[in-house]
Amino acid sequence: MKLLLFICFLMPSFMPDSLDLRVEQLHDSILSIDTHNDFAMMYAFPRMEYSVTKGQVSFELMKKGRLDAAFFAAFQAQGPCTEEGHEHAKFLSDSMLLSLHRYAAEHKHLGGIAYSAQEVRDLKAQGKVAMLLSIENAYCLGEDISLVDHYYDLGVRMIGLTHNGDNCVADAGTDSTQTHGGLSAFGYEVIRRMNRLGIIVDVSHASRQACLQAVEASQTPIMASHSGVYALKPIPRNLTDKEIIAIAKKGGVIQISIGRYFLSTLPKAQVGLPHLVEHINYVVELVGIDHVGIGSDFDGGGGIVGVEDMGKMKAITRALLEEGYSESEIRKLWGDNVLRVMEAAETYAKSF
Ligand SMILES: [Zn+2]
Repeated sequence: MKLLLFICFLMPSFMPDSLDLRVEQLHDSILSIDTHNDFAMMYAFPRMEYSVTKGQVSFELMKKGRLDAAFFAAFQAQGPCTEEGHEHAKFLSDSMLLSLHRYAAEHKHLGGIAYSAQEVRDLKAQGKVAMLLSIENAYCLGEDISLVDHYYDLGVRMIGLTHNGDNCVADAGTDSTQTHGGLSAFGYEVIRRMNRLGIIVDVSHASRQACLQAVEASQTPIMASHSGVYALKPIPRNLTDKEIIAIAKKGGVIQISIGRYFLSTLPKAQVGLPHLVEHINYVVELVGIDHVGIGSDFDGGGGIVGVEDMGKMKAITRALLEEGYSESEIRKLWGDNVLRVMEAAETYAKSF
């Protein structure tokens, strides 16, 4: 260390930036959680062709970027709501979840699967990263309520109600024919079962009505795992003030996505940290620091200039410090808000 300082003294350009040091120190004491990525599909089905950038997610990149935990989603595109369609969606989800278990087992020197907030903390204490399991699109449930238990048993702790297009559970924010006017009767049943087991309800991709109805129906705080602010970029996938306020009032979190699609109409090469921070600031001003976080959407379209993959997550911390956020605010934004939502789900499930 003395030698390093001596070299830095001789060569000022090598001097570690004091803000970078503060970022490193801060990450020693906080827990950082990213609530959405689409790594699983490519890992389970590497031969398929993908239209989005891949390779943005790995345990190695998490360590490099000081990201302690991430929800890895088993994603299925919406298909026909038929017995065959549902069987195929279940096959895809099961395959992806099993492949995530395999990935964690093969990388156990770097990290492991966490099934609770405490297990995220325990892995961090061991110097390891945590993989949390989620589903993006409840299509794979078909109309079979017992599959909620099946996915809980596979380790799933959050389920996104829809992707693009309505399913048997809810209407989607895009490609919707307003099949149910929000949640279906089965959707209400699914949310009851998710609450009972301690699975978080994720409303990213759901229609506005489905989102507001899910907030009402859920006994525990809900999450928008990867979304943006509609007032800043008016697209169906972003949340209106009404939705943000409803989610926050219930104790939930709005996780801002790190993707141009959500953040700005500028060309991709011009969208960076200032746009991400703008969306964060908006949510903070509207509902406070307790209800905002990060859901990257890496391997699913995410990535901006300066935060191209999980290895660059620290740049967000630096930008937040530069923006004037305190360390206790950054602690909430990076992980404590999500841990609170996880623990609320766990506590409710244990109350039976
Ligand atoms: Zn998505």
